[in-house]
Amino acid sequence: MGYGQAPHILIVGGGYVGMYTALRLQRKLHGGEATITVIEPNSYMTYQPFLPEAAAGNLEPRHVVVPLRKVLKGCRIVSGHVVTVSHERRTASVQPLLGEAFDLKYDILVICPGSVARTLPIPGLAEQGIGFKSAAEAIYLRNQVISRLDAAASATDSAVRRRALTFLFIGGGYAGIEALAELEDMARDACSYYPDLEPADMRWVLVEATGRILPEVSPGMGLYTVKQLEHRGIQVKLNTRVESLLDGRVVLDDGDRFEAGTVVWTAGVKPNPMLERTDLPLDDRGRLRATAFLQVDGVADAWTAGDCAAVPDLTKGEGATTGPSAQHAVRQARRLAENLLAELRHEPIKPYEHSYAGSVASLGLHKGVAEVYGIRLRGWPAWLMHRTYHLSRVPTVNRKARVVADWSLALFFRREIVSLGSFADPRAEFRRVAAPATAPATGTDAAPGTPAALEGSTTYPGADEAAGVDEAAAASAPPGTPAPAAAAAEANSQAARHRS
Ligand SMILES: Cc1cc2nc3c(=O)[nH]c(=O)nc-3n(C[C@H](O)[C@H](O)[C@H](O)COP(=O)(O)OP(=O)(O)OC[C@H]3O[C@@H](n4cnc5c(N)ncnc54)[C@H](O)[C@@H]3O)c2cc1C
Repeated sequence: MGYGQAPHILIVGGGYVGMYTALRLQRKLHGGEATITVIEPNSYMTYQPFLPEAAAGNLEPRHVVVPLRKVLKGCRIVSGHVVTVSHERRTASVQPLLGEAFDLKYDILVICPGSVARTLPIPGLAEQGIGFKSAAEAIYLRNQVISRLDAAASATDSAVRRRALTFLFIGGGYAGIEALAELEDMARDACSYYPDLEPADMRWVLVEATGRILPEVSPGMGLYTVKQLEHRGIQVKLNTRVESLLDGRVVLDDGDRFEAGTVVWTAGVKPNPMLERTDLPLDDRGRLRATAFLQVDGVADAWTAGDCAAVPDLTKGEGATTGPSAQHAVRQARRLAENLLAELRHEPIKPYEHSYAGSVASLGLHKGVAEVYGIRLRGWPAWLMHRTYHLSRVPTVNRKARVVADWSLALFFRREIVSLGSFADPRAEFRRVAAPATAPATGTDAAPGTPAALEGSTTYPGADEAAGVDEAAAASAPPGTPAPAAAAAEANSQAARHRS
């Protein structure tokens, strides 16, 4: 190596690997030894294991994210996406949040854009479904579930009510199971505020294509979790596939058919497709080929780790790679930063080696399942372990204090059951008063919290015209809301006000 002046380190992605690598580098680099730029579309890193608790209202969503500009004061943060990388030319093309794309030169690349939801071409999935990987999705789902309870409690049509109260989760890994269990727990709790609703009126369904859930723990613990969920009235359908979700009508390959107002897709992840727009080597699953030293295989000055990388798992046999987990991502980030520093200083580098410790999962308040270093815990002790473990892991003392404060408050006050669904389209009311009057519409899939959502399938004359007029409403619709339904929601909302 020989970089001339202080080398420029470019970090693509400010998630687990990106943020922890940058943190360690800024702490350990000597003045003038290197400069660091982090490119990330969000202004924060998301502590994903806390998303289910944020969705359930046990944690304030702002407390499960870490503001990058606050913790990475020694780095330059660019808010945007890396679109392509030509490592041969040591150049990344960056699309900032606003304005024209530009090229950024670097000397050393750390590429860690993580993963995205692995979807299947199921009819209706793109229109009806929502993933569970971001704080925005967690906030949306919380609002969605509460707004469905509001809608069902006020609906006179039994079919509308049944659809609103049916929640479908597809995929039984820890993200899906925790999201389902936490949200069901919250909804069950919330039912006590609705005189017309009983927990038994709700239908929560988990569909999993394989014969078991939670592959991260032993089969026995997976079975225990199925029994716990079933005991709560949640239907767990193993070895079952979704065939269609068109218009929210669920068709399963076991012959079951029903309507669902909420569809959550948590059936695994795949490497970020932006990797295909680089000149770096990928394996047959689209992951960056990596060495155990966390260098991109056969490429100088390029490092990688986390969900996007095929890192050899030295604790297992030949050909094994580490799975996509925070546990590996954090430790790999630490090793990556140490190796990068060592290489800068012409010192020896070390391979990454960590045997998977196990998993902890929360299944709602005071319920959980854990298997760590062979020790199996269930129920309350597992839930306590989940909280203790993640509190010890969530970055910065500031976040830890806020998380403890949230949990402590919850000891004295029950959780809030307010749906602030109008946050999804806060300009709707202003658009209504600012625009010339138009006639309005229909829809049961409106944004949660909008009057349309609360009015079930009531149809208003002129719906089509209104849906065609307001493209802005469609553009700003929350994920999972079909574009016409968003316009219809807006139109319906107008109709509701015209009537009153
Ligand atoms: C709900 C949920 C719960 C989980 N719970 C656990 C758990 O309990 N235990 C566990 O071990 N693991 C858990 N995980 C998995 C864990 O969070 C991931 O394995 C980990 O986040 C991977 O880290 P990463 O840095 O590779 O990716 P990420 O943390 O996802 O970071 C990738 C970053 O890259 C950014 N990015 C994407 N594209 C670009 C681009 N083109 N340009 C610039 N930046 C880009 C993204 O915005 C993101 O911030 C959970 C995941 C989820 C979704």
